[in-house]
Amino acid sequence: RAVDLRTVVLEAVDRLRLTAEARGITLKVGGRMDAMVHGDPDQLMTAVRNLIDNAVRYSPDGTTVGIGLSAHDGLAQVTVTDQGMGISPEDQERVFERFYRVDAARSRQTGGTGLGLSIVKHVVINHGGEVTLWSQPGRGSTFTIRLPEWEDDGSPVVGGQAGTHVTQRRGH
Ligand code: ATP
Ligand code: MG
Repeated sequence: RAVDLRTVVLEAVDRLRLTAEARGITLKVGGRMDAMVHGDPDQLMTAVRNLIDNAVRYSPDGTTVGIGLSAHDGLAQVTVTDQGMGISPEDQERVFERFYRVDAARSRQTGGTGLGLSIVKHVVINHGGEVTLWSQPGRGSTFTIRLPEWEDDGSPVVGGQAGTHVTQRRGH
């Protein structure tokens, strides 16, 4: 099923706007605004919402969370960038595990079960995509979701750079 990733992102932002505002956090959306992917809109919304929820939850009051949408090389991409506490290199792999939370004592104050990112990973992989985490402790984090983009005619675009092709036609 064709899904407009822009609609998914805007709805996720809508649902978290009040939570963010209560903390003085600005949700800033930008980027190319038409990216069609194939999949389940509810699951994709949950994934994007979990990333924005984390960005807000693990950032100080008054900061900005950027949500970017783009598409190139046959991949649709959503980035969620925060100016929060960041995630150390040792924890970067582990945060995608179920129930894993950095610094249990601190995390207890912020609530949560430690499932959000494992759900993000699960949804993205089930949609043939990937999720990347970049972070610098003390400065912030960027989570990037990449999903295969769909052409207007409904056929999936497969990797822009990799692969070869051949055309067969009558004659010659
Ligand atoms: P929930 O199930 O409610 O999402 P959670 O937020 O603790 O609970 P995850 O979303 O899986 O669970 O995140 C796991 C841990 O990774 C968090 O507890 C937090 O320590 C760390 N983390 C996640 N996102 C960020 C972020 N944007 N900045 C800093 N730390 C983060
Ligand atoms: Mg979470």
